[in-house]
Amino acid sequence: LFANVFNEQLMPYQQESIIKIGSNENPHGPGMAAKKAMIEAVSGSNRYPWDVTTILREKIGKQFNLKKENVVIGAGSSELLGVVSTWAALQKGTVLSPDPTFRLWIPAAKRLGLDVKLLPLTTGKAIDLNTVNNAIDSKTKLIYICNPNNPTGTVIPPATLETFIKNTPKQTTILLDEAYTEFSNEPSMAHLVNEYPNLVVAKTFSKAYGMAGARVGYVLAHADTAKQLSDLQPWANAGASAVSLAGAVASIDDPSFIAFCKQENIKARQVFYDALNEHQIPFITSHTSFVYFDTSGYSKDFRSVLESSNIFGARTFEDGTKWLRLSIGTVSEMQAVAKALKS
Ligand code: PLP
Repeated sequence: LFANVFNEQLMPYQQESIIKIGSNENPHGPGMAAKKAMIEAVSGSNRYPWDVTTILREKIGKQFNLKKENVVIGAGSSELLGVVSTWAALQKGTVLSPDPTFRLWIPAAKRLGLDVKLLPLTTGKAIDLNTVNNAIDSKTKLIYICNPNNPTGTVIPPATLETFIKNTPKQTTILLDEAYTEFSNEPSMAHLVNEYPNLVVAKTFSKAYGMAGARVGYVLAHADTAKQLSDLQPWANAGASAVSLAGAVASIDDPSFIAFCKQENIKARQVFYDALNEHQIPFITSHTSFVYFDTSGYSKDFRSVLESSNIFGARTFEDGTKWLRLSIGTVSEMQAVAKALKS
């Protein structure tokens, strides 16, 4: 019954003939274990899910050799990017961010009175921590670093990032957004949070875990920092539903699903790379579930070519350029992209 009602209502969004690859959603998720846990959790939704929240915080902490006191849960990591901006805005000052990057938190930061300074990437579209370092002054309250970066897909070498974290003044918070780390081969920087109370690492169940619609994210921070952040939530750690939390707990216990998604992403990404190469469209090697590429030498309108085959999602993040980002779908979805480009 559920399936029928649901499918009918969602029909316009789930037509099989439409391929949606614009928001870096995982085309495979949620995993079976998460789905089962979420279905079972529906009937417990009359209760507040404190116990599950605690279990999830403990499990997340354990994954990074940390404690539940180091973990703050939110309704997606975007809620927590907002909380960190609010925290930074308690004192007037500036925010630094390489750009283009994930900009969702920027309008709120500006409204909160922070002066947001965007810093250019290198010519190879990588984040240049020297540029960021040179821009730090006594007014810098917050530095946002998305690693791997969205939309460019580049990753900062771990030793370089670690040195940057160590050398950043203690009064400046570093918000390190690791939404896509699971797709890269580089480690999380979460092991540094106890040593550096000015480091906040944001992570999510929306990408590799395939639970974007469930809305569960978290930050890892020194316990004192984590407490200050959760104090700014109307109800600490209580943004995600009982159903979503149960799915998150189950997916931590199912690492084979993440390994599967990572492998499939590599295969599907290669299909797209091959298509881009065939059409001589330059791209940045990606450490994520999306690819950034330059269509300025492509004779047709890339987006229109895909849209005429019912493939939606190619998006621009740099006005005045023809760089586009496309999310990686399943292997067969990326084969459909390749076919559309050939036609
Ligand atoms: N951070 C980055 C870099 C993202 O790309 C996204 C979503 O696309 C988010 C955070 C927000 O994710 P969520 O709020 O679903 O956890």
